Amino acid sequence: MAKESDSTRLPDFRNTEIAFQNKSDKELIESKRLFMAMNNGHLVDVGSSVAKLALKLKLPFVQSIMKKTIFKQFCGGINLVDCQEVIDHLYSHNASTILDYGAESKTVAQELDDACAELINAIEFAASNNSVPVVSCKLTALVDNNVLIKKQQKHPFSKEDKAKYDRFLKRINKACKKAHKLSVGIFIDAEESWMQVAMDEIVTDLMKAYNKDKAIVYNTYQMYRHDKLDQLRADYLEAHKEGYILGAKLVRGAYMEKERDRAEDMGYPSPIQPDKAATDRDYDEGIAFCLDRYKEIAFCNASHNLASVQKMVNAIVKNELPRDHPHLNFCQLQGMSDHITFNLAAAGFNVAKYVVYGPVRDVVEYLIRRAEENTAVTGEMSRELSLVNEEVKRRGI
Ligand SMILES: Cc1cc2nc3c(=O)[nH]c(=O)nc-3n(C[C@H](O)[C@H](O)[C@H](O)COP(=O)(O)OP(=O)(O)OC[C@H]3O[C@@H](n4cnc5c(N)ncnc54)[C@H](O)[C@@H]3O)c2cc1C
Repeated sequence: MAKESDSTRLPDFRNTEIAFQNKSDKELIESKRLFMAMNNGHLVDVGSSVAKLALKLKLPFVQSIMKKTIFKQFCGGINLVDCQEVIDHLYSHNASTILDYGAESKTVAQELDDACAELINAIEFAASNNSVPVVSCKLTALVDNNVLIKKQQKHPFSKEDKAKYDRFLKRINKACKKAHKLSVGIFIDAEESWMQVAMDEIVTDLMKAYNKDKAIVYNTYQMYRHDKLDQLRADYLEAHKEGYILGAKLVRGAYMEKERDRAEDMGYPSPIQPDKAATDRDYDEGIAFCLDRYKEIAFCNASHNLASVQKMVNAIVKNELPRDHPHLNFCQLQGMSDHITFNLAAAGFNVAKYVVYGPVRDVVEYLIRRAEENTAVTGEMSRELSLVNEEVKRRGI
């Protein structure tokens, strides 16, 4: 049973008691230890390399250590059934779940078919589960990435490339058709810019096909790119003209260093904003743009940035928009920013956790990104560690 939420109150994001209500004292201390370890940049660098190597060499003890620590913090389980406990837990606190199978960048046809089958399983699982409205997917898990790169560069396709590309379109269409039939949303993640144009074209076609009455397919906009606010505006105009609902997940973007390094190495202008302030500005403008058109844009503020979340909360309250309108959504990653998720949920806003699942070897890249994100660059404490510390102090443990 889900707890009653109170949609007359405003969320108090400083309330760590609500934020960590789902954690026992033991679990809280485990989280504290993990975030303390991740706070150390050197340790994260060494740990990431060791983890990758050990998994390649199939050293079972490393998998076992990861499963009890970093995997437990950030993932839902190794398969769908394994995730049920986390899903129920979130639901009991009024938060939904967005399932995300962790496989990334596969190449062999059978692996790609398997990833598609897993996506369809997740869609069926979501349809039978009230608190899983959406599943997420990475297109790079469904196609040989070189084919996407060639497509974007308008490089002529060989016969083999064409066959691979057609098979990929079949996979993603099959999944979206199923999602449409079962009324489950699909968030399509944004990835590296050298494949993103090719992916955007496909996602737009999918929205045209499946978003006529309800948002089923959502594209992701990385606002750390200087061209994405304009693209969001243009995509809205296209959706308005063609008569479908634009599905938009807004994020800041996860591949900044990689993008900048590649642009520098290959001598083209970086697609990334000049600084963090520019990313923040476009992010908030993008959210405001969607809010002003929320009947035609179903969107998700997918962020751990409290200022961006607070701004959207203030706008919903000020304009007296229904907090539970299906087009107004927030989302955080499992294991992070519980102060945002559970305080939004307690105040009746639509909020979900992205719950990544899969075998440890398949989610290792994802876990490394989480570790890097929680490393303090300038020596101060990471956001998550200070929150956990506050709650440890409040409980006196
Ligand atoms: C539910 C969910 C789904 C996500 N899905 C995706 C996805 O599909 N694709 C994807 O790429 N990422 C995705 N992310 C990750 C996301 O892009 C961010 O990396 C992460 O959420 C941190 O950003 P933030 O908004 O939480 O806030 P903050 O912590 O305030 O912002 C950090 C972000 O700001 C940007 N930034 C930092 N320094 C600079 C700088 N000097 N110049 C310009 N920009 C800078 C970077 O994007 C950095 O990640 C997702 C995140 C969530 C919560």
